[in-house]
This record gives sequence, C-alpha cells and structure tokens, in this order.
Amino acid sequence: DNPIQHKPAWIRVKAPTHPIYLETRNLMRASGLVTVCEEAACPNIGECWSQRHATMMIMGEICTRACAFCNVSTGHPNPLAADEPERVAAAVAKLGLRHVVITSVDRDDLADGGAAHFAAVIGAIRAATPATTIEILTPDFLRKPGAIETVTMAQPDVFNHNLETVPRLYPTIRPGARYFQSLRLLDRVKQLDAGMFTKSGLMVGLGETKAEIGQVMDDLRIADVDFLTIGQYLQPTVKHAAVDRFVPPDEFAELAAMARAKGFLMVSATPLTRSSYHADADFASLRAA
Ligand code: SF4
Ligand code: SF4
Repeated sequence: DNPIQHKPAWIRVKAPTHPIYLETRNLMRASGLVTVCEEAACPNIGECWSQRHATMMIMGEICTRACAFCNVSTGHPNPLAADEPERVAAAVAKLGLRHVVITSVDRDDLADGGAAHFAAVIGAIRAATPATTIEILTPDFLRKPGAIETVTMAQPDVFNHNLETVPRLYPTIRPGARYFQSLRLLDRVKQLDAGMFTKSGLMVGLGETKAEIGQVMDDLRIADVDFLTIGQYLQPTVKHAAVDRFVPPDEFAELAAMARAKGFLMVSATPLTRSSYHADADFASLRAA
C-alpha cells in the first residue's frame, strides 16, 4: 500500500454546501446517471456542481482497465443501457448546459469499444438541446477499428482524449494503454475532420520531468491538438500510485507559458485543473475570440 501524503495548502478545496450542488446531485440520482465527478472523487465537485457542471460518465461505472491513478472500479461491465442516450440528453436539458462534457469507462469488452453508444449520446443531446456544445472525453479505442470514425462522424464540438502521462510512465500508470495509440487517435480525428477541436490532458506529480512534458506537448502539437489541460495527480486511495511530488503553482504557470508558446489554442494548467474543469468557460471564450 502507498500511504496518502498530506496535501499542500494550495490543494485544499471547500466542502460542497451550495443548494445547487444538491440539486445537481439529486438530478443525477433521479436520472440514474453516473458522473466522473463522483467516481473519480474529483476535488472540484463543490465548485462545479454549484454551477450545474456535472460530467456524465456513460456505459456504466465498471471499467475494463485498471489505471494506477484512477478511482473507477475495474471488472466485468454491465450490458449497455439502451435508454442511456435519452436519459443523458434529458439531464443536459434540465441542467440547462450551454456546454456539456461526456466521458465513459473503457469498454474493451465491446466489439466497437462503445463508439456507437457514444455517437447515440451525441445524437440525443443534439436533438434535445441543439444549442448545447458537446465535448467528449473518450477511451483510446485500442484494437477497435472504425471506432474513431464512428464517433467523429457524430460531430462532437470537441474531441478530447487524455494522454494522462509521459510515455516512460505508461507501463506503471496506464498499463493496458499505448502512448502512440492515444496520440494516433487525436491525429486521426483531425485527419477525418480538420474543423473539429481536439483536446488532451496530462497529470503531473507522478515522477515525470519538465523535458518529458515538453516532448509530450510537441507530440500533441504535431498531431494538431488544440487544447491542453494539466493538473496535479492526487492519489485516491492507498491502493493507487503514490504522488511523487506536489507541483507548486508557479511551476504550473511555467508549464502553461510553455504550452502557449508551442501554439495550443487553449491551455489550462493549475493544480486543480481537470479535463472537464471550466471546460464551459474555456470553450465560450474561445468562440468569442
Ligand atoms: Fe466534475 Fe470535471 Fe468539475 Fe471534476 S472538474 S467536478 S470531473 S466537471
Ligand atoms: Fe479509469 Fe479510464 Fe483507466 Fe478506466 S480507462 S481505469 S476509467 S482512467
């Protein structure tokens, strides 16, 4: 077991007490929907849910992978729920979201990795709330030919797939994934639809070096990736990978400057940045620019 380190002052978050937080939680429960906010024990839940920003996690709450940083349960997943696209779309409408982020567990057990289900969810949201912009955060679709094409054809506004860490740490942190498969996915989306925004994210504090992060940024820019998020890795339980170090806020500012200099259109790099953190505001400001 890896003991959990005491968090520095800049990581502390407020307890969720806002009335809209409770409304959001009740709606998720009543709709039978799973959120990554809860499953990943995200530290921003108080802030995000008080603004109705919940990131729904489709295709169940059991994942076929076991990433060393992730709090989602691993095992044999349940069959897909055919009514999930409509339930997600109805919840998006009730929340009144101008931008929604949809993610999922990895479904290596499904022939298409869940690509058609992702497409159905995008379609249902478009039909119910056409003005809502849709960001998807997908699995890597490793060994699922045609999956990236199916999801891209469903026309999300932002296609996000996280590289999570530097290639050297993949065997311990993201076993089951391949760095170049993830990179190729992002590259493929741009080849299929040059107008679609692509996005990726990294966790820091796992033992990576600044030079390695710079290399990942370059790889992402070569794949024409538009947006980048970088946040501090937090260890969910003693069974998960230990935090190597808490990266101080000024180093995040340096990483953000480095990423901007490399040409990313949108960069978010702070200790509490998560893939879906402030995604709504970031996308709105980009559209206004
Ligand atoms: Fe949910 Fe993302 Fe906000 Fe975390 S940052 S609470 S995962 S919307
Ligand atoms: Fe968690 Fe995604 Fe890894 Fe599954 S594939 S364990 S949901 S990070």
